[in-house]
Amino acid sequence: MFKSVLVANRGEIACRVFRTARRMGIRTIAVYSEADAGALHVRLADEAVLIGPAPARESYLDQAKVLEAARASGAEAIHPGYGFLSENAEFAEAVMAAGLVWIGAPPAAIRAMGLKDAAKKLMVEAGVPVTPGYMGEDQSVERLSAEAAATGYPVLIKAVAGGGGKGMRRVDDPAAFADALASCQREAASSFGDDRVLIEKYILSPRHIEVQVFGDSHGNVVHLYERDCSLQRRHQKVIEEAPAPGMDAATRAAVTEAAVKAAKAVNYVGAGTIEFIADGTEGLRADRTWFMEMNTRLQVEHPVTEAITGVDLVEWQFRAAAGEPVPLKQADIPLIGWAMEARLYAEDPANGFMPSIGRLEHFRLPEGVRIDTGVEQGGEVSQFYDPMIAKLIVHADTREAAATALARATGGVEVWPVRTNAGFLGRCLTHPRFFAGDVDTGFIGAEESTLISKPVASQALLQDAALRIRLASRGSVAGSDRYAAWDPFASPGGFRANAEPRLDQIVYANGERAILQIDGSLSADGRSDHPALDSHSTVYFEGGDTFVVSSRMDALTAGSASDGSLRAPMPGKIVATPACPGDVVTKGQPIVVLEAMKMEHALVAPFDGKVSELSVAVGDQVSADAILAMVLPDEA
Ligand code: ADP
Repeated sequence: MFKSVLVANRGEIACRVFRTARRMGIRTIAVYSEADAGALHVRLADEAVLIGPAPARESYLDQAKVLEAARASGAEAIHPGYGFLSENAEFAEAVMAAGLVWIGAPPAAIRAMGLKDAAKKLMVEAGVPVTPGYMGEDQSVERLSAEAAATGYPVLIKAVAGGGGKGMRRVDDPAAFADALASCQREAASSFGDDRVLIEKYILSPRHIEVQVFGDSHGNVVHLYERDCSLQRRHQKVIEEAPAPGMDAATRAAVTEAAVKAAKAVNYVGAGTIEFIADGTEGLRADRTWFMEMNTRLQVEHPVTEAITGVDLVEWQFRAAAGEPVPLKQADIPLIGWAMEARLYAEDPANGFMPSIGRLEHFRLPEGVRIDTGVEQGGEVSQFYDPMIAKLIVHADTREAAATALARATGGVEVWPVRTNAGFLGRCLTHPRFFAGDVDTGFIGAEESTLISKPVASQALLQDAALRIRLASRGSVAGSDRYAAWDPFASPGGFRANAEPRLDQIVYANGERAILQIDGSLSADGRSDHPALDSHSTVYFEGGDTFVVSSRMDALTAGSASDGSLRAPMPGKIVATPACPGDVVTKGQPIVVLEAMKMEHALVAPFDGKVSELSVAVGDQVSADAILAMVLPDEA
């Protein structure tokens, strides 16, 4: 076994790999960009090497700099994590050529699975069922539309080089095919430098089922059961679980066997995932489950597999890279209980899931569950990298118990002033459809209005806030002196001669006005660590949501009660302006599309009205907080 490992990554996955390395007595080496000088993964490593400026292209994706860091630090092995260089065959070869151990997939397997069309052809040869469709050389619009018709609508156009949910278009109607194709090709060319596409039958009620496989250099391949990652938003996973709800023994046997066959077809070594799409209209069935693609790396959601099998997949990766055989025989890999993972994103669901960046002034995650995170209180969420800040993982006897425990955990998330999706995750987990296991990839889209509904503060929260406001305004919080605060002449109507004093206190929770009656027998919840914004506003956390509670109505408490200006939430580039000055728009209609953090974000009309001003054009670079457009409300 090698004695030191460099992780060519950042954030939670770097921290995750270090944890296992430390346990195995392997020296840990971090690389970091200038933006990450204070990051958790740097602090956790035995040694850390600065490799360049914040943009990933100039640091985490710069192969020469990573290799130089390995040389300078004397690293014997490189773990690429996921994303960045993890599925880069050329980098894998360079690592090995430098005499280092590559803790990743063999370059030939990465190449074989790298393009969706080639991978599918290979799977057809290996006898693995693939989604019906077209994956040919002829990329003319005539041929592609004829193939779409032959496949049968609805179809999905996919970039062959696509990934991360990008470069896909669903088409329901032949008349819309040409436009969808052109836009898919444009996106594919700009995102992946390759505009080739393939056509797939669009699976109705699609479920995302994937199988964890593991191979060694002695020709053994085992599987570690399936995961269900159907809870997605715009093709990106949000909540994952293992095993898959409704999976029967026969179907499991068929998909895991197909997965092992797929891995063997590319002589796979290490941790890999075979992704399938299943038509869930009549539950999971082997003859309605098709190969989609293989990910030749460790996945974000690997912890749920670790939870149900008791295997440390990173340890297995180290062992396989060192030439050891797979530690367990297939028959000895257990499947125990139910595991679920939620991805905590720094984003604002109430504001179109816009990434939320900044300093984590208050950052507290629940205890008693597995947390994989790459940030800590005082750290930064930067615009340069993925906004996923933590994963919360639970393991329980049953699916219901796991969902309940995970909802409790997401409800305990406290983050400020950066926004998170914690409340949204809780609403997904407790939604009756999800709870019943009735989820396909369209679930979030279909239920979005419920899932992003404006959170309402509980009576207990408001009561507590009202009491605090009252006590604080008299300069005395709790203590023996509490009743001295009750000055009967200070508050109209507050004095009762023969009873506890009772006062009306107005509070605003995220701008919603409420009147609370406080009576003298109540006490504040005893916590003194609600972040205070100023002398009259405090932040409360409840169910993963944040409430700015104030005695006054002001800009901060008003939250989304927008003045109609659309501001850039972070620096980025304007890629579209779907509305023009003078346009009549309805609430939620996109006005400006900003590209930032490798994603497109639509800034939408905050209410029904008219676009009064558009201050940017396509191609403009804008800085955070710049006003991009103004909408005047209808009444104006
Ligand atoms: P990427 O490589 O960008 O992640 P995938 O091919 O893995 O793309 O697909 C991502 C997601 O898109 C899947 O998890 C599924 O939700 C959806 N999807 C993919 N193919 C189909 C299909 N043929 N029909 C319906 N949905 C699909």
